[in-house]
Amino acid sequence: MIERPYSNFLPLGDNEYIKVGGGLAATQREVARFSVRDAERLPAYYAMLEDVAAVVKDLLLETPPNVGGGMRDLFQAVKVGKRFKALDISLRRDLLDLFTKSAGDILDQWFESDPIKACFGFDSIVGNLASPYTAGSAYVLLHHVLGEVNGKPGTWGHALGGMGAIAVALGKEAGIRGVEISTSAAVKEVMLRETKSGHEACGVKLEDGSEIRAQRVVSNLNPKLLFRTLINPLALPDDFQKRIAAYKCGSGSFRMNVALSELPRFTCQATPNNAPAPHHSSGIIMAPSLRYMEQAYFDVRSLGWSQQPIVEMLIPSTVDDSLAPPGKHVASLFCQHVLPHLPNGKSWDDERERVADVMFATIDRYSPNFRASVIGRQIFSPLDLERTFGLMDGDIFHGALTLDQLFSARPLLGHGDYRTPIKGLYQCGSGTHPGGGVTGVPGHNAAREILHDR
Ligand SMILES: Cc1cc2nc3c(=O)[nH]c(=O)nc-3n(C[C@H](O)[C@H](O)[C@H](O)COP(=O)(O)OP(=O)(O)OC[C@H]3O[C@@H](n4cnc5c(N)ncnc54)[C@H](O)[C@@H]3O)c2cc1C
Repeated sequence: MIERPYSNFLPLGDNEYIKVGGGLAATQREVARFSVRDAERLPAYYAMLEDVAAVVKDLLLETPPNVGGGMRDLFQAVKVGKRFKALDISLRRDLLDLFTKSAGDILDQWFESDPIKACFGFDSIVGNLASPYTAGSAYVLLHHVLGEVNGKPGTWGHALGGMGAIAVALGKEAGIRGVEISTSAAVKEVMLRETKSGHEACGVKLEDGSEIRAQRVVSNLNPKLLFRTLINPLALPDDFQKRIAAYKCGSGSFRMNVALSELPRFTCQATPNNAPAPHHSSGIIMAPSLRYMEQAYFDVRSLGWSQQPIVEMLIPSTVDDSLAPPGKHVASLFCQHVLPHLPNGKSWDDERERVADVMFATIDRYSPNFRASVIGRQIFSPLDLERTFGLMDGDIFHGALTLDQLFSARPLLGHGDYRTPIKGLYQCGSGTHPGGGVTGVPGHNAAREILHDR
């Protein structure tokens, strides 16, 4: 894993830009170009986020107390309660703010200049079909700050060889420990047997008709996908079924991967002959203000996609030359907002290319050579994300990260402890605490509960 040299670069239009990262002093110098007061406030803002993140991180590796459970859950609830009681009142207030308020409200309290608010506020709408002024969006901002790379909190990184390299590394280690992995083995159904007290999982049936018998089945599928397509509904309580059907998915994301004949030439940071520069290796965010992001949200609600979307471009081939031939590049375009289901009966199968062109036009406004440099493009609308990866409604986090779907309530109150209404069936993916992201944490926690039951 290597770190990004700069965390973010935002072209702002009118040949202006902001670059954040490369150390506190460098960021302060950059922010001071827009507001000296904002630059002075940066250390206190970072400290506030770090303090709150430390509290939340402590809870990541805990199994949430299962509301309505037995003594074990009660002890767990007391343990969590004691942690909060130990915090000073100022930190408790920050915690409450970050869990309930909008990111926009918090950022408006801290800062006065648009560029730095846009830079920080972007994290609040990544994978979140919302405006930065939607209540609860501050938590999504915090969720993105919780990550770390090579032990460095709050940083973003790149896996050499691409994200697949992580799965390959995990697979290798698992193999050494005697784990057998089957791929291209789609599960059609979780097999159940009736017991005196209900149903128990006893294995899985694959699409090819073969069966694998097991004492326990552990699923990292989106909970909606698991319970609505792979489980006999008669085995699930009515209320559970109703609520899983209402489990909120749809992160507003539209994803593209592109191959480029040359690097983008941003008018605000042009380099001679498009020579690679640090800003090419950062998260390049095309969303110059919180107001712009809010308008993108208003558009999506009425039109199905934002007329002026939010686009983050990453060009991993600038830090990893295994990904493209010399001089050529690959980039990912993470675009927001789009609706999972288009209005007026329109289908993503008909609109995919048109919306991809809207994203390209957005990039061209800041980097006019972009469209012409695209050698090939791969497009994932929300429907494609669902069809290809089982991401229901294209939700990159297996369910919205809203307060009603977090901690003990992820995916549902009463099942926040990785157990399900079916004995022997567990969940271990992003649809459980603490939610989406490449962390391994849901799996770690689920394993502990499975071992406990065993
Ligand atoms: C476009 C995009 C960008 C992202 N960016 C980041 C990022 O920058 N940083 C970050 O930390 N996180 C990011 N995420 C989120 C992160 O990738 C996910 O949260 C994480 O991969 C979820 O892991 P998981 O094991 O819970 O589920 P998944 O990775 O979704 O794994 C579920 C697996 O189950 C398979 N499956 C589905 N149905 C069946 C079936 N019937 N039988 C057998 N297998 C089945 C699926 O194919 C899939 O491989 C991003 C996600 C997306 C989509």
